[in-house]
Amino acid sequence: MLSLQEVTVRYRERKALDSVTLEIKKGEFISLMGPNGSGKTTLLSLLTGLISPSSGKIVREISQAEMGFLPQEVSIDRRFPVRVRDVVFMGRVQIKGPFKRFTRDDFELIERVMEDLRIRHLEKRPFGYLSGGEKKKVLIAKALVSSPSLLLLDEPTTDLDPPAQEEMIEIVERIYRERKITIIWVTHILSHLPSFTTRLVFLKDGKKIWDGDPRVNLEEFYA
Ligand code: ADP
Ligand code: MG
Repeated sequence: MLSLQEVTVRYRERKALDSVTLEIKKGEFISLMGPNGSGKTTLLSLLTGLISPSSGKIVREISQAEMGFLPQEVSIDRRFPVRVRDVVFMGRVQIKGPFKRFTRDDFELIERVMEDLRIRHLEKRPFGYLSGGEKKKVLIAKALVSSPSLLLLDEPTTDLDPPAQEEMIEIVERIYRERKITIIWVTHILSHLPSFTTRLVFLKDGKKIWDGDPRVNLEEFYA
């Protein structure tokens, strides 16, 4: 559905990605790992079209509108007056266009997604005052109401306490199995590799050093 061919990204002299070739196929659950600064977020930014490669090629069989994205950092003023429900609705508005009336199907989809993400009880709360984990769940819901075929999650479990981490993995596993969407899950933490990963891609200093079986000995890569 999407592929990178010998893609390099430079920030000034520094190469954030160094000749990376990667093909994303429908139905995969790819865990993208690597230490801090290895180029994971840069790779997602390429896939979503936020940045362009310095060299190499991107081949897209799906449009940007078919991708859902959870960014690594959420920077909005916490006093910004927007409720959880509004944030999720925004995801649907973005895909429908601003002046389209919501149908019953739209409302049902939104309710179901909020149910799946277990954020129904938060719906009237101001978004800015949620915990980090709650914000991430709301933003995944926002991404999902556009019914994406590819979901990109940048460090969804980083900074969460162990119960919240487990809940996140459980929620994402259910989304993956029930909605049959392709997912790229990014983490720099060894123990946050989901057991149902179908393929592991490991980056180090901007280079892809592993692409395949997730049951590889990861400790070696960090050495
Ligand atoms: P990761 O997500 O794996 O931690 P990043 O893709 O964020 O890694 O960063 C890869 C490298 O590129 C790092 O050395 C980082 O400092 C650098 N980098 C990332 N974004 C920028 C930017 N906008 N300008 C300059 N350097 C950047
Ligand atoms: Mg990152």
